[in-house]
Amino acid sequence: MASQEDVFKKLIAHCKEYGFVFPSSEIYDGLGAVYDYGQMGVELKNNIKKYWWDSMVLLHDNIVGIDAAIFMHPTTWKASGHVDAFNDPLIDNKDSKKRYRADVLIEDLLAKQDEKVEKECEKAAKKFGDSFDKDMFIKTNQRVIDLIAKKEEIHTRFVKALNDSDLAELKKIIEDYEVVCPISGSKNWTDVRQFNLMFSTEMGSTAEGASKIYLRPETAQGIFVNYLNVQKTGRMRIPFGIAQIGKAFRNEIVARQFIFRMREFEQMEMQFFVKPGTELEWFAKWKEIRLKWHKALGLGDHKYRYHDHDKLAHYANAATDIEFEMPFGFKEVEGIHSRTDFDLSSHEKYSGKNIKYFDPELNQSYTPYVIETSIGVDRMFLSVMAASYNEEQLEGGDSRVVLSIPPILAPVKVCVMPLVKKDGLPEKAREIINELKYDFKCAYDEKDSIGKRYRRQDAVGTPFCVTVDHDSLVDHCVTIRYRDTMLQERISISDLGRIIGEKVSMKELFKKIV
Ligand code: ATP
Repeated sequence: MASQEDVFKKLIAHCKEYGFVFPSSEIYDGLGAVYDYGQMGVELKNNIKKYWWDSMVLLHDNIVGIDAAIFMHPTTWKASGHVDAFNDPLIDNKDSKKRYRADVLIEDLLAKQDEKVEKECEKAAKKFGDSFDKDMFIKTNQRVIDLIAKKEEIHTRFVKALNDSDLAELKKIIEDYEVVCPISGSKNWTDVRQFNLMFSTEMGSTAEGASKIYLRPETAQGIFVNYLNVQKTGRMRIPFGIAQIGKAFRNEIVARQFIFRMREFEQMEMQFFVKPGTELEWFAKWKEIRLKWHKALGLGDHKYRYHDHDKLAHYANAATDIEFEMPFGFKEVEGIHSRTDFDLSSHEKYSGKNIKYFDPELNQSYTPYVIETSIGVDRMFLSVMAASYNEEQLEGGDSRVVLSIPPILAPVKVCVMPLVKKDGLPEKAREIINELKYDFKCAYDEKDSIGKRYRRQDAVGTPFCVTVDHDSLVDHCVTIRYRDTMLQERISISDLGRIIGEKVSMKELFKKIV
């Protein structure tokens, strides 16, 4: 069986070969951790965004959207804490000259302890067969007890070091537990340093008049500074939410995992404003709503898990990640944060403007508390691609690569193919497309054998192929072929729209999550 690393490499190659994702400015050898989406990628990305946007602003009558600018007044980032505290602890390996995030190295170390425990359990399960009791084994096996104790020890030191921003201790943990550089294999580390992740540039044309501004590292602040505008003009009553999709920029230290960690990426964020004291209730609600949204896509429920934060950000009183099983392990796709009134209070302080909410029911003003749901479009894209990529062995020694992308997200919904390039079949195929194109993204393909054409559509995840043959001109029927089962059926052309529509309907999916 291919290793996960091989699968990931193949996925990256596939993304490029079929027009999903290209390295940025590739003719100049690319730009680190920046990517462009191709003709297929942009369709998938837009569908993901629509699924998110509609689930927020259509399904909730108390959530509205905005589109704030990327550039913001520089004081915004003072108030938000990003100028002073948006840092990652970085460490270099002196031999490989590779740079790492110290916290990520330690998190990997912790994950390794878990893997070792799992291995011990697997070994024992094989040895003891049916009589194996995993819980008992974990409690009584000395080696496992030692491994768990070691993990606890590392974990306690790690959490304390993060909370105290103790960089020397982070380095000491890396040294004490003999973490080696994956490239050079050496333990020759530099000190740990803080590194601010914001990109800056200058606004204004003259050197004297220019002022330093930042490219936003998150979209959330655009929502906070507009919260009162929206509340007043939209006559919103608490609880209510504001949703936004947009680009964010971070000068990431480690950028080696394709579109998982980019320097320019896109976020879908929703800030939900609530009455102080009710925030943990709403936090629990949003945790549940968001996981349901993910699971409804059918990528596999076992591929998701929550991960509560060890270190809470300066603004949060509860935080959890929704992690997805990527080819390189469980990783954060979405963060759900209870941000208290930190941001609004801070903007009030720095701007000197009153941005409190007047609650007509209580007849009093207060600063709302905020629950945030924040998901990366690109990470969502990667999780869909990773879960959908399959290499299948078929009967007769044949094989195919198929992207089982959920039909509602598939870039192209249907490809219409004339069996041959003559006898009026291409015209009939075009006629069908002209009917379907108002509702579905369609493709037309007349080149090569039907088998090859099917393979091409499988490789980009098209859920339906429709073949027009000579009989179609007489009986007004076509052959529809389903991507996942490869089954074929003869159906009436007049039924096509309905059959495709049922499978790619967001409404049907939304019904599962409301
Ligand atoms: P990480 O710990 O992986 O750096 P984070 O906790 O800093 O992520 P948040 O600040 O919570 O991430 O951002 C919210 C979401 O934005 C993340 O869940 C992720 O999906 C996305 N995101 C953050 N940084 C990046 C990035 N560099 N590239 C792509 N997506 C990102």
